[in-house]
Amino acid sequence: MSLPPWSLGVFTSIDAGLGVHLEVARDLQIHSIQLHTPHAAGRTPEAAETFLKKLNDYRIELTCVFGGFEGESYADIPTVEKTIGLVPISTRSARLKEMKEISDFTRLLGCSAIGLHLGVVPHDIKSREYTDIVDITRQLCDHAMHNEQNVHLETGQESADALMQFIGDTQRANLFINFDPANMILYGMGEPIPALKKVGSHVRSIHCKDATWSDQPGITWGAEVPLGKGQVDMRAFLATLKEIGYYGPLTIEREIPQDRERQKAEIQHATELLSQLRKELLGPDA
Ligand code: MG
Repeated sequence: MSLPPWSLGVFTSIDAGLGVHLEVARDLQIHSIQLHTPHAAGRTPEAAETFLKKLNDYRIELTCVFGGFEGESYADIPTVEKTIGLVPISTRSARLKEMKEISDFTRLLGCSAIGLHLGVVPHDIKSREYTDIVDITRQLCDHAMHNEQNVHLETGQESADALMQFIGDTQRANLFINFDPANMILYGMGEPIPALKKVGSHVRSIHCKDATWSDQPGITWGAEVPLGKGQVDMRAFLATLKEIGYYGPLTIEREIPQDRERQKAEIQHATELLSQLRKELLGPDA
């Protein structure tokens, strides 16, 4: 199945992560998804086959599988630094092994991209801590390359300049970016539109998510809000995607699993907003 330019998508999950269930995508007639990886017990060939059958029945294409790990917490910014991704040293090698397993499971799903929050990369590019993260990312990219996959780094936990420096230092041709404009605001890492322009050449997937700035950016969280209600400026975001030549899926991410009805309603509203902007920016026949 080949997707039209800027086909609408939604972030989903099976038994872990904050995405919506696949049936929400089906009900809202959304034809592309990203998937938060299931727990290890759910990453079997049988589970892959069952999931693929559903995708086929619902006429949905899977575009990226995101890794996530036990023990991660987004409670506040200091906790993110301590717990997220491949950065925390006590869990690093176990999580690299698990991320490789997620890559293998993703191959069973016939998907050519894996994504993750790498964690808060140390700032001193001359430090051992930094080069260790470069090295572990290379190992992950090399494993993904064997599975004919790209690796998409989720944005937000560093500035656009730091992210491009890191990708350059890693020197792997399959390392790219999943650009989440709301995360730039939530983490206080810079205005999303100029950031997107800077990293545009490496963007291979995106999240449509909105947020408002914290009054202490980088110290406390901003707030995630329904699409169109925040400070991203979705029209400018899409216009910039067009400018950088990104026509992949517009994957809506809305992280309020505590209220599934509201989550679904807000995603529906987001599809309406994005469809309207899509028509305005690409023309009615796109
Ligand atoms: Mg995101």
